[in-house]
Amino acid sequence: MARIIPVFIPHAGCPHNCVFCNQRRIAAPVSPEPEEVREQVCTALDTAGAGAEVAFYGGSFTALPLAQQKAYLQAVSGLPVTIRLSTRPDAINSEVLTLLSQFPVRRIELGAQSMSDAVLAMSGRGHTAEDTRRASKQIHEAGFSLILQVMCGLPGDTDTWKFSAREVAALNPDGVRIYPVVVIRDTPLYDLWKAGAYTPLTPQQGADAAADMLEIFLQRNIPVIRIGLNPTQELSSGGAAAGAYHPALGEMARAQVYLRRMIASAGPVRMGKLIFYVKANRISRALGIRKGNLQALREMGYTDVSVVGRTDLNEYEVVSFWS
Ligand code: SF4
Repeated sequence: MARIIPVFIPHAGCPHNCVFCNQRRIAAPVSPEPEEVREQVCTALDTAGAGAEVAFYGGSFTALPLAQQKAYLQAVSGLPVTIRLSTRPDAINSEVLTLLSQFPVRRIELGAQSMSDAVLAMSGRGHTAEDTRRASKQIHEAGFSLILQVMCGLPGDTDTWKFSAREVAALNPDGVRIYPVVVIRDTPLYDLWKAGAYTPLTPQQGADAAADMLEIFLQRNIPVIRIGLNPTQELSSGGAAAGAYHPALGEMARAQVYLRRMIASAGPVRMGKLIFYVKANRISRALGIRKGNLQALREMGYTDVSVVGRTDLNEYEVVSFWS
């Protein structure tokens, strides 16, 4: 897999203040100038080796003026890299796609966030679900790889995340990222939470909601390349004030999918010993964080349980055997 060289351009181009977002706390305080980007990429290339991918993250790349987009793209021109960038659905049009196609841009990440227009409006996104459908189609037709980001637990999203996941899956993205909402300081969402006008998901609720979405993407064979915000010193030391922030949130969600599949596979509690077979290198995921799945199974009455690896099973596949 290509090594990623991240270039953070916090809030660059963003025309709206999405209620949950503070890229300066999540990613970096300021955007670099194009010449600084080239310097940064050249330095990283000394260790990255062949096949590196420059990723413009943290802003709405294609909402920048075309000249500025071009300056950033030209800054890495001639270097042995491909490019990926993140942006907003309403900032995709034929003009920007034509510009991007003149450079080695391979992937475009769109922040869909929700496919409920009510949730999008309450989150201050400034675009609709239809914008995401239109932009996704245009990106595919222009030959770029499409990654969609989708959230759960936004204001008004008490139960629409499964709907959003199904709608996002229907757009056939080449990958998705799932972000359960974290309440970050210095955001409108933080103020709403402090005022008692917004109730965030807990980390476990966020992991469970992410597991709901993960299952939908698994059914459609859509790769889930990230669950939960990258843990950082800034977030861990108070930047994340509430919500679904946990350094192992993705692992919690993936373990939850295993737990559900183990329960479904085992059927009703019986007398005897219960063995679950899972993919050989996924035993610890099936057991859950600090063996939490084992504990949950015990509490449900499955008292004599063991988990055994098998090389012929796929990810998330569970076979159970009572003896
Ligand atoms: S979520 Fe995306 S579009 Fe919204 S403010 Fe943050 S970077 Fe900008």
